[in-house]
Amino acid sequence: MVRQRYIMHVDMDAFFASVEQLDHPEYRGKPVIVGGLSGRGVVSTCSYEARKFGVHSAMPMATAHRLCPQAIYVQGRYGRYQEVSREIRKIFQEFSPLVEPLSIDEAFLDLTGMEALAGDVYALGPKIKQAIRERTGLTASVGLAPNKFLAKLASDLRKPDGMVIIRPEEAAATIAPLPVGRIFGLGQRSVAALEKMGIRTIGQLAACDPRLLRPLLGKNAEEIRNRAQGLDSRPVVPDEQRKSLGKENTFPVDLVGMETCLGALWDLCQQVGWRLRCAGLSGCTVTLKVKTGTFQLLTRSRMVEEPLSQDEELMEQIRLLARQLSWSQPVRLLGVSVSHLVPAGSQSLALDDERRQKRNQALDALKQRFGEDIIRKGWGKR
Ligand SMILES: [Mg+2]
Repeated sequence: MVRQRYIMHVDMDAFFASVEQLDHPEYRGKPVIVGGLSGRGVVSTCSYEARKFGVHSAMPMATAHRLCPQAIYVQGRYGRYQEVSREIRKIFQEFSPLVEPLSIDEAFLDLTGMEALAGDVYALGPKIKQAIRERTGLTASVGLAPNKFLAKLASDLRKPDGMVIIRPEEAAATIAPLPVGRIFGLGQRSVAALEKMGIRTIGQLAACDPRLLRPLLGKNAEEIRNRAQGLDSRPVVPDEQRKSLGKENTFPVDLVGMETCLGALWDLCQQVGWRLRCAGLSGCTVTLKVKTGTFQLLTRSRMVEEPLSQDEELMEQIRLLARQLSWSQPVRLLGVSVSHLVPAGSQSLALDDERRQKRNQALDALKQRFGEDIIRKGWGKR
């Protein structure tokens, strides 16, 4: 018999906006919108008070202004958010040695095997929420389930300040009535196509003949049907063990214009840089991924001479890659990833001649094999 896994997903509620409300008591209870304030910036996060007006992340700032002119608009203070995130990460690590951060404000924790220590693993949910509240003054939503898919879905069910447990025996019944759009990784357009076929709920999708799904969902059909049945065998993988580290965002509304895209990419670079530094890693290859509104997928990579982990260095490379790809269509998804990871600090140690020569030979061999721009395969395994 397969041992039951216990996976927890913790997601901070409206993280950037909540930190602003924490630091500025006069913002509390009011709509707060954090993001790029320049002409074509996008919303990074907004408080729940702002969401009532229809404002959401990745929305162009101009639209947010129109929907909610009375909101408090704040330019993000990334350094401060990283400081709080560091504290939250410490708490995660007290609960499990197996922590997979998804971004600055959410992570999976593998709690399997904690039964002996904790007694009731499910009791760790309220405990971690309490620790976060006491030590940061912020609220988090927690999902606890037998796999990553169900845990992430659970944490999203009762936001903000939610705590949802999905036990294996109740998984199918819990998710069956939910709309198919609740399945992460299923885009708006796939949802529309499924609805056209009369498949509206996860339960209907789970019962569907996989052969019918293939033309709609392509190669992901089987995986998505597994999800609909509440199945997901992906392990929790800490950043330190990764071969590449990245972050991508599918936007609720396609982004128009290079400046808007660069704003969103700067957001992603800060998140990826942050994860690299937390994991004590630097990377030698930077990859930009762009999916247009018409589902055209563009990927381009660059190798760098010195391994990097700083947000600005990363953004510099992304800017060059964006110039090379120079798309003109609206953008549905953007991704930034870094691969060929090495322990950080190796770049600050002065390379002696022999090591430098060896490294350059290795780099040349890679460049010869793949060309100057490596088209990285296997993106987005997660
Ligand atoms: Mg969050």
